[in-house]
Parts: sequence; structure tokens; C-alpha cells
Amino acid sequence: MVRIVTKFGGTSLATPERVLSVARRLVAYHNEGNEVVAVVSAMGSATDDLLTLARSVNASPPARELDMLLATGEMVSMSVVAMAIASLGVQAVSLTGRQAGILTTSTHNKATISGLRCDRVRQALEDDTIVIVAGFQGITDNDDITTLGRGGSDTTAVALAAGLGADRCEIYSDVDGVYTCDPRVVPRARKLDEVSYEEMLELAAAGAGVLQMRAVEFARNFGVVLLCKSAFSSNPGTTVKEATMESAVVSGIAYDKSEAKITIRNVPDSLGIAAVVFEAIASSGINVDMIVQNISENGFTDISFTSPAHELPRLRPVLDGLLERLGIREYLVDDTIAKISVVGAGMKSNPGIAAKMFKVLAEHNVNIEMISTSAIRISVVIDGASTSGALQALHTAFGLDADDLFEETQLSAEELAAKAAKGR
Ligand code: ADP
Ligand code: ASP
Ligand code: MG
Repeated sequence: MVRIVTKFGGTSLATPERVLSVARRLVAYHNEGNEVVAVVSAMGSATDDLLTLARSVNASPPARELDMLLATGEMVSMSVVAMAIASLGVQAVSLTGRQAGILTTSTHNKATISGLRCDRVRQALEDDTIVIVAGFQGITDNDDITTLGRGGSDTTAVALAAGLGADRCEIYSDVDGVYTCDPRVVPRARKLDEVSYEEMLELAAAGAGVLQMRAVEFARNFGVVLLCKSAFSSNPGTTVKEATMESAVVSGIAYDKSEAKITIRNVPDSLGIAAVVFEAIASSGINVDMIVQNISENGFTDISFTSPAHELPRLRPVLDGLLERLGIREYLVDDTIAKISVVGAGMKSNPGIAAKMFKVLAEHNVNIEMISTSAIRISVVIDGASTSGALQALHTAFGLDADDLFEETQLSAEELAAKAAKGR
């Protein structure tokens, strides 16, 4: 018997018709004699709507209460999908993260999975029942509900696939696989037949929202092969697994408009100052991505760094405190930036990719504000308004363009607008 863990994203479940279509797919798998688990995300824009609701009563909602609220989104989906399956005459049971045994750390809003207790899921599968699990949520040792960060249902699915020793893990979304770039921004993006964990990890970390980074990390650590497919078509998808093919020099380009650039002006260039600044930020639990320190002049320097823009309300008081403590005059905040990253495992053995990237951007009048690199990624910060032009230019220059344009399936104008806004 083949055990399949599937995951369906919010767009795939946005309407009753789509829920029924997902239910039919799951029933078909079941009727072929497979054991079927489906991890579901909140329907449509439910998570965003719940966030808006929370912020309408409290600009900075307590993290624990936010998790209690957000977790309800996936609970609506799980029960509705189970009902739809029952309407097709097949037995299904919905389980919350707690009931499915998803144990997590206690860092509310961005908890990580610390353990699994899959007995109840296993028992239901033995009873010939399709199991629907609420994604994105888990439970702490103290019995508090947590969530796993945006896109966290992907991680629930991969963890369950690992915990249950599944034969297949299929991630269904509104695109039919992993492309060389977001096909909604670069319509000539090409679908990849396969992509290595290493490259997918860098692409996801650089903003390619098609898979949550943690899910890819989990998949790599536990050897779970992922198949990314569309819930709206039967097109072959993309396999994410250990590298088997020779690596492309550049396999994909990602962008991220969710960060802000902060520049602290006239910091005294004395020993240990950077440590003081970044320790203060870290102790508030705020992530820092790129950091650049300029050459000092007259004993003073500027330090720039990027952090998630949604953390600005928490970051500003920390920076204000630092101004007072260190006698710094000012800091500047720019939340209209974009980070563009070129990723490819073949970069390791091909010098000159950075030079080519910078040249292409210069030829298109795109100014580079910050640069960072890893062994297989080069990232730059640019003005957000240049994102689409920069992506298209780089995509062409690195020989990634497909012959055909990406064809949209089924999404309404509102859904497309919401997707575009997510890129912010
Ligand atoms: P789901 O709600 O199903 O989890 P997401 O919105 O999280 O779906 O992820 C799918 C979206 O990821 C697509 O609609 C697409 O616009 C975006 N995306 C970004 N980068 C890529 C990429 N490299 N390949 C495919 N899709 C991408
Ligand atoms: N519903 C959650 C979100 O919107 C989790 C997910 O979709 O994976 O981020
Ligand atoms: Mg997602």
C-alpha cells in the first residue's frame, strides 16, 4: 500500500467548488488503494483577513493570542474538506495540529516543529480513513497553540511525510511547479523538472514563496522527496530532491520585497559598536539579513542592514534606545527596497556571475544599494520600483527564458491582485 501525504494551499481551497475538486482528487487516490493524508491551508485570503482583524483591535497583537486566532483559519479548511469527502461517500477525519501530534517550540508566530506523535493519524489510516490535517499549527509542551510562520503548512506536510514514512509528498498550489522565477512577474519563466534541495533552499530563503524555506530544510534533513504540482491541472510538476543532474550555473532568480533597509548614520567607529547594535536587535527577536558597514570618516561610520518590514514597529523603539545610548544622531528607514537573488549550484565552479549580474543591472540603470553572497547565491538590494525590469533583464541575460509565456489557470482578478500584493 502506498502512503501519500498531500498539501493544498489557500488558493486551491478558496471556493466550495475548489474544495470539492480537492476532495475528488483525494477520493480518487484513496480509491486507487492508497493511504491518503492531506494537509490544508486556510481558505483563500483567510489568514490575511484574520491578521487584519487582529490589527484592527491592536496594532501589535500579543503573539500567543494571534496564534489562537490564526489557527482557526486552517480549522475551517480541514473540516470543510472532510465534509466534502464525506459527501462523496468516503470516510474522512479532520485533525487539528494538536490532534495530529505536531509538537513545536514555544516561539509564537514562528515556532519550529520539535517532535511528532503520529499515532492518531496512523490509526485513522489503518481504519481506511482519509486524514485531513490543519497545516501551519502545532502545540507546545504547555498545551498552547503555535503557528509556524507564513507558508507553514508546507512544513507541516513535509514533517508528517517524514514522521509517517510516506512514499510520496505532493505539494499542490496554484502553479504547476517551481519556475526559474516567479512566473507571475516574469512570464517567460521556465518550469524546472527538478531542483536540488540546496538550490531550492536558497531560492526559498531569497523569497521564492512557492515553498516555505523550513519545509525544504526539513525535506533535505529527512530525505523527503517533494513533488510540487498544480491543484488546477494535471501537468507534471517539479521534483525537489538531492542533486542528480549537473548543476546549472544559474538555475533561478528570486525576489523579496518584504524587507526594509535601515541606515544608522554617524555611528562612532569604535571597537565593539557593531556588537552592541546587533545584540540589541537580536535580543528583541528581530531577524537581520544583509549588513553593510561603510568606510569610516573622522571616526564615524554608517551601518546599513535589512530586516523584515513588518518588524519596524518593534524595531524603531530598539533603534531609538540605541541612539540615546550611543549618542547617534539619526537612522533612516527605507521600506521600498527589493532584494534580488540569483541562485545556482554551478556558481561554485563558475567565476564571473556576480560581475555579469552587476553589469546587466547597470545597463538597465538599476542602482545596487547592498550586496551579499553565499556559495551558490548573489543578492543585491535595489529600489523596489525596478524589481520587475531587473528580474526580466537578468532572466534573459542568464539564458533562462522559455519559448512560451506562462499560462494562468483559474485565478480571479482579485486573487491575482492579492498575489501581487503579497510580493510587496
Ligand atoms: P499556496 O497558497 O498554495 O501555498 P503560495 O502562494 O504560497 O501557494 O505559493 C505559490 C506562489 O508562489 C505562486 O502563485 C507564485 O506566484 C509564487 N512563486 C514565487 N516564486 C516562484 C517560483 N520560482 N516558481 C513558482 N512559483 C513561484
Ligand atoms: N495559512 C498560512 C499562511 O497564509 C499558512 C500557509 O498557507 O501555509 O501563511
Ligand atoms: Mg505557500
